Amino acid sequence: MTVAAAPTRFGLDVYRGRLRRAAAEAATRDVGALLITPSIDYTYLLGYAAPGFERLTCLVLSADGRASLVVPHLEEPLARHELGELANDLAIVPWDETEDPFWVVRDLLGAGLMRVAIQDQMWARFVLRLRAALDPIELVEAGPTLAALRRSKSAEEVDRLRAAAGAADQAMNRIRATRLSGRTERHVSLEIRDLLLAAGHESADFAIVASGPNSASPHHDPGDRVIEVGDALVLDIGGFRAGYGSDTTRTVFVGDPPSEFSELYAVLREAQAAACAAIRPGVGAQEIDRVSRGPIAAAGFGDSFIHRTGHGIGMETHEEPYIVEGNADPLLPGDAFSIEPGIYLTGRWGARIEDIVVCTDGGGEILNQSSRELLVVE
Ligand code: ZN
Ligand code: ZN
Ligand code: ZN
Repeated sequence: MTVAAAPTRFGLDVYRGRLRRAAAEAATRDVGALLITPSIDYTYLLGYAAPGFERLTCLVLSADGRASLVVPHLEEPLARHELGELANDLAIVPWDETEDPFWVVRDLLGAGLMRVAIQDQMWARFVLRLRAALDPIELVEAGPTLAALRRSKSAEEVDRLRAAAGAADQAMNRIRATRLSGRTERHVSLEIRDLLLAAGHESADFAIVASGPNSASPHHDPGDRVIEVGDALVLDIGGFRAGYGSDTTRTVFVGDPPSEFSELYAVLREAQAAACAAIRPGVGAQEIDRVSRGPIAAAGFGDSFIHRTGHGIGMETHEEPYIVEGNADPLLPGDAFSIEPGIYLTGRWGARIEDIVVCTDGGGEILNQSSRELLVVE
């Protein structure tokens, strides 16, 4: 059974609020305007995914709150259709094939701006032409301004993340209930993608199946290895549901695990649970990383935990905040991120446990519900 995808767009007020806050955030950073080309930032602010082509489409959002949308003339009807009522809040500025859209942007910005922020993934062909047209205005990255907004998830966004996590849990539970030995990693990976879609994801973006010695490679690409009894198996799966991401990892063992592996896994579980329990507003992101490293290092596996503890998640699988040493930024209510410590012994086996957690005033709310026990599979 396939569950119908939930509508992706939020209500009009959500986008009005986001545009207002983005402008205010730019103002506090001495950024005169944000130039946002088609990207997740664009979709976040306007509620639809504009096509990213060689013709410039660019939201020009001034720090005083004025918003203009520079679009190729032929895409004006599409933009108006997708924006719906929000179109009334913007000046829509179509440009014709013989016009230079970068000078259209320059005219919209007016005189006196010192600094303008551009979308982080803007194409070089646009960046270079903007730099020429806007000279001598300084161009900086819009990422920090947008991240400040996108980090703090609303209750509606958390609901979507929760639904995505629930769907991924469902896929995880189903795959763990099937016979896995005798099948290739690739075959199991394809089945997981189908299960994610069946659970209501609109896209199944990754399904890592890392068996035996491959489980020691955190981003292993599932291949032709046949899963066999005696394998540790790391399953890291996720995609998008109603525009928000899922990302969860469980480790299972094919047949009865040797005590050495069970002991390693017990250490990992303790580390993962301790990190989840340490989450609360005001704690530095790196503190959470340290907490998850504590038990692992104490058990002698410190050098075998070869990646950060986690990453933010929302409309992208990896976004702010990053749970890593060096990031002293305090956690804020509404931050959503993974907690995914791992232990990897090259040539032998590895294990990882990953949940998505939301920072709330009362502490961390773990969105994933599927069992974290070391399940024995066939
Ligand atoms: Zn990863
Ligand atoms: Zn993952
Ligand atoms: Zn992850």
